[in-house]
Amino acid sequence: MTDAHSIKQRQADVVIVGAGLAGLAAARALAAAGVDAVVLEARARVGGRVYTRPASDGTLLDLGGQWIGPTQQRLAALAEAVGAATFPTYVDGLNIEYRDGQRATYADAIPMNDPIAALETVETLLELNLMAQDVPLAAPWTADRAAEWDAQTVASWMEAHVSSAIARMWLTLGVQAVFAAEPRDLSLLHFLFYVHSGGSLNELLSVTSGAQERRFQQGAQSIADRMAAELGERIILNAPVHTISQNDRSVRVESDSVTVMGQRAIIAIPPTLAGRLRYRPALPAHRDQLTQRVPMGTVIKVHCLYAAPFWRDDGLSGQVASDSGIVRVTFDNSPESGRPGVLLSFIEGDEGRVWGRRSVDERRAAVLECLVRYFGDKAGAPFEYVEQNWAEEEYTRGCYAGYLPPGVLSMYGDALRAPIGRLHWAGTETATVWNGYMDGAVQSGERAAAEVLACGL
Ligand code: FAD
Repeated sequence: MTDAHSIKQRQADVVIVGAGLAGLAAARALAAAGVDAVVLEARARVGGRVYTRPASDGTLLDLGGQWIGPTQQRLAALAEAVGAATFPTYVDGLNIEYRDGQRATYADAIPMNDPIAALETVETLLELNLMAQDVPLAAPWTADRAAEWDAQTVASWMEAHVSSAIARMWLTLGVQAVFAAEPRDLSLLHFLFYVHSGGSLNELLSVTSGAQERRFQQGAQSIADRMAAELGERIILNAPVHTISQNDRSVRVESDSVTVMGQRAIIAIPPTLAGRLRYRPALPAHRDQLTQRVPMGTVIKVHCLYAAPFWRDDGLSGQVASDSGIVRVTFDNSPESGRPGVLLSFIEGDEGRVWGRRSVDERRAAVLECLVRYFGDKAGAPFEYVEQNWAEEEYTRGCYAGYLPPGVLSMYGDALRAPIGRLHWAGTETATVWNGYMDGAVQSGERAAAEVLACGL
């Protein structure tokens, strides 16, 4: 990898903006085709939303994306190609349901302590899965009921179709966990597209046979690091791009420190960040109006480290589903060896918006209060507390991904991937499978590379 400060100008066939999994996958595909591609990355590291950091005792913590599921074949193929091995997420034992101030345990994927609510939750998941199948992945705006579904939010649909308040609460928790946003924020059409792109809601929400099934032994960033090592000097770090110009022969991509001239550009950053760049000539209104309408979710990912995973001795899996508090979803995120014990907590949606403006100390106290409620007094004394607030990150500005409010997908969806002259768009938000996930990022990068190759260089 090259540091931007050591060079000022470069020439390449293709200039890629962003060294997340999408940009790296594009660069890898182009390199394999013998194309000279250069990647400009704003940060001092590769990986973007995939970020692995050691705790004080050396335990590797994934502060961004971490899990891989059984149908995420593009990511799996890439991981295998670079030698990144996985291990299963810890699931043994009972899960905790916390509702109306009461703590109970359950063994299934869905809290079952109120059977009527559980039944309606399961029925609603089935209904939404069926509706999702009717949303074409490559063109969701062409679904028969696109206009109707894009005119409502997930919340308004639930109000009309789910009678049990408890079932609505569990479904809301599912939406928060998958999107780091609230049901009132999301277009029903976008939600259904997203569900279809990952297979089904069951796959999105499950550990076993679902999106949370396995983790990477060396952390998810090891995949990006290994790709970057293969790409070598094609990657330029510390190079935040601010201006992209094109004419009928070439593109010119300017960063704070280096300018690269090429034939085509792939912009592999979230749409909202792509909308903050300056384009010469200016982009068509349709594309710019799209990028004005793709907000990122809000999540603070928290790891609490303990000498041992004490909850396992109590017969607990480490998973919580809760109706209240700053933390409503947790997982056992201990390393494969089981030492130290690591509890993973998510602060999502409105909780992330409210608590993101408070101090770390206030958040830490509120998180530990929740964990004590769920797991007992031992949870109150971790030897380390590590949090990552993704909305604060200048080159991400929220997570897990961009989501679409009502009216956007049907009106602007066709602008998500459509190239503009010599500019091509990648990033997980442009994926047709596992949109919002690492697998989708890889698909988007490979698709953008194929698009560029098809244009001829
Ligand atoms: P990014 O990773 O955002 O890459 C964009 C790159 O562009 C970044 O490196 C950024 O620094 C750079 N950049 C931005 N602006 C500029 C600029 N102006 N100039 C140059 N470079 C720029 N997915 C899963 O599959 N499983 C999970 O378990 C999972 N959990 C997640 C948990 C969290 C907390 C988060 C944050 C994400 C999670 N995700 C998960 C989502 C997954 O991480 C993303 O979908 C994926 O990493 C996105 O990759 P990308 O390449 O599309 O975008």
